[in-house]
Amino acid sequence: MTHTNRVHGPAANFADSACTPLPCVVPPERNTRQRQTIRDVLTHAARPLSPGEIHADARKRLGAMGLATVYRTLKRLVGEGQVEVVEIPGDSPRFEWAGKGHHHHFHCRRCGKVFEVDACPGDLDRLTPKGFKLQGHELVLFGRCAQCVRAG
Ligand SMILES: [Zn+2]
Ligand SMILES: [Zn+2]
Repeated sequence: MTHTNRVHGPAANFADSACTPLPCVVPPERNTRQRQTIRDVLTHAARPLSPGEIHADARKRLGAMGLATVYRTLKRLVGEGQVEVVEIPGDSPRFEWAGKGHHHHFHCRRCGKVFEVDACPGDLDRLTPKGFKLQGHELVLFGRCAQCVRAG
């Protein structure tokens, strides 16, 4: 697994900082910038985004980018554990930057946006059938977001 796109090697930290040609493996510049742009979109997002939303924001930042590139890059980032898939019942999955800790989501069924919910009802053992062992839960609230409520 590669972690960085330009590996300067441990020796680069020491004395010889003059620009010697480095034996780096530089992937095609375009791929690097597209990947970095999608990372930026997701790390700056206040809520989970659909591929279409990621595509729109990425194009604002970078100019041209195909939707296929967004899907391909998301797949790779999910595989690397950097991005998490947010499953929405009855709708397409959304994507968020990984490592936010346990939280839930609210799906506005009018505008389609998915929002983060920090609260959690906690231990749901009381809902668990007798004799069963609870291992976790998923919870998606749905309804209308504040903006859609105001819009009537
Ligand atoms: Zn809404
Ligand atoms: Zn919870």
